[in-house]
Amino acid sequence: MRGALIYAPGDVRVEQRDDPKIIEPTDAVIRLAATCVCGSDLWPYRGIEPVTRPTPMGHEYAGIVQQVGSEVRDVKPGDFVVGSFMASDGTCEICKAGYQSRCAHVEFAGAGGAQAEYLRVPLADGTLVATHGQPDPGLIPSLLAASDVLGTGWFGAVAADVRPGKTVAVVGDGAVGLLAVLAARELGAERIIAMSRHEPRQKLALEFGATDIVTERGDEGVARIKEMTGGYGAHSVIEAVGTQESMMQAIRSARPGGHVGYVGVAHGVQLPGEELFFAEVHLLGGPAPVRRFLPDLISRIENRSIDPGKVFDLTLPLDQAAEGYRAMDERRAIKTLLWP
Ligand SMILES: [Zn+2]
Repeated sequence: MRGALIYAPGDVRVEQRDDPKIIEPTDAVIRLAATCVCGSDLWPYRGIEPVTRPTPMGHEYAGIVQQVGSEVRDVKPGDFVVGSFMASDGTCEICKAGYQSRCAHVEFAGAGGAQAEYLRVPLADGTLVATHGQPDPGLIPSLLAASDVLGTGWFGAVAADVRPGKTVAVVGDGAVGLLAVLAARELGAERIIAMSRHEPRQKLALEFGATDIVTERGDEGVARIKEMTGGYGAHSVIEAVGTQESMMQAIRSARPGGHVGYVGVAHGVQLPGEELFFAEVHLLGGPAPVRRFLPDLISRIENRSIDPGKVFDLTLPLDQAAEGYRAMDERRAIKTLLWP
């Protein structure tokens, strides 16, 4: 099969690789209907995470089950499935509590590299969710988005305790931040403030349900949020970047008693204890337990009440994955979809 590997920062190649096989009896092998490049793929691409050897890339996937191991019961060959980037058993206490991304037996579903024609998914029963029949091809980008960016934005909103009538601020205008806006709308927020200074992203944020755009960032951004909320700060803030600056901007934008859901993968973030103590906010974040939300998200996509696939503003054949990375790195694209 063809699959993408990163060799060094800035160096992504699509090469001939071995087809994945069933290794454990709980595995499935799927044929990707579509795959994509994640904002978090840019960390190694930019050299912020080290690349020590050629590494298969991609962890977002939707496609058709080709083969299952002898112990797989809930999905079968021919099913169209969506899964989380973290494979989970679905049976341990952590999974049952809804934190499948920290399952006691968690495995990285992207280990084999989902930017490819085929992918081995471990713990298939606890990880994959089948759609209701074969989806309309037009729904595939949205189903793919559910695998990570939608599920992650959704978790950010749930972790930030978004509820009807609340004011929500979203820090970060990447695909996850934009889909956190959509999640906040679906969860009934009254006011949704998207913090973005990029015009095409502002436009998409408004389409997804943002009521206000704030272009200032850092302390100025915080001051704007306070000004717009009677001096209090937002009830709910979703952090979707993962830097020191974005995390502090999120915490400072929340009112005392408010909630911060942080879903940007943290890189070098250090929280000052005294400021945190007096901020008096709830903090919940981490790798999103996408699996918790998948059945609901798939239904909302199938009945066309949400269209998260709009975050893909660049579509390329898999063989041009390198250009897909470059376009996202240079912020020419929000998110690149790759057709295998
Ligand atoms: Zn588990």
